[in-house]
Amino acid sequence: MPTTLTNNPEETQALAATLATSLKGGDIILLYGDLGSGKTCFVQGLAKALGVTETVRSPSFTFVWEHRLPSLQCTMYHFDLYRLHYGDDLTPIGLSDVWGEPMTITVVEWADRLGEYMPEHFIQIDFEYLRDSKRKITIQKK
Ligand code: ADP
Ligand code: MG
Repeated sequence: MPTTLTNNPEETQALAATLATSLKGGDIILLYGDLGSGKTCFVQGLAKALGVTETVRSPSFTFVWEHRLPSLQCTMYHFDLYRLHYGDDLTPIGLSDVWGEPMTITVVEWADRLGEYMPEHFIQIDFEYLRDSKRKITIQKK
């Protein structure tokens, strides 16, 4: 079921909860899509399904938020690269320090900013704004 149409934020979060059941330490999730297409909404659903109780918001000033995931005994790193530009040096952000490590789940909003700086294996999720509160969400394992 790679493509899903959701009709409201709750359906997007329910889809995220479904993905959450198959996640394991070391997984990397790259999120693509325009502003308002539902990336953060999806991450909120993912985090909730993984037992995060604190508020999940876009890490626009820090680039990254950390959330402990007691159920998986992992830490979720939620990056948002919106303020980066193509070709910017990504080293200071610390992505490569965490992603793929066995005790981490890494989620990246605005993953198009990564350019050539890509992990070997990842889950790609594309968000498309259709109209009103309809979104097209495509999940692919790469
Ligand atoms: P992004 O992180 O991609 O910029 P957000 O998740 O922050 O987008 O914002 C999506 C906005 O669209 C939220 O205000 C959310 O309530 C609204 N929305 C409406 N319908 C949906 C839907 N089907 N899925 C996700 N968000 C939706
Ligand atoms: Mg966002």
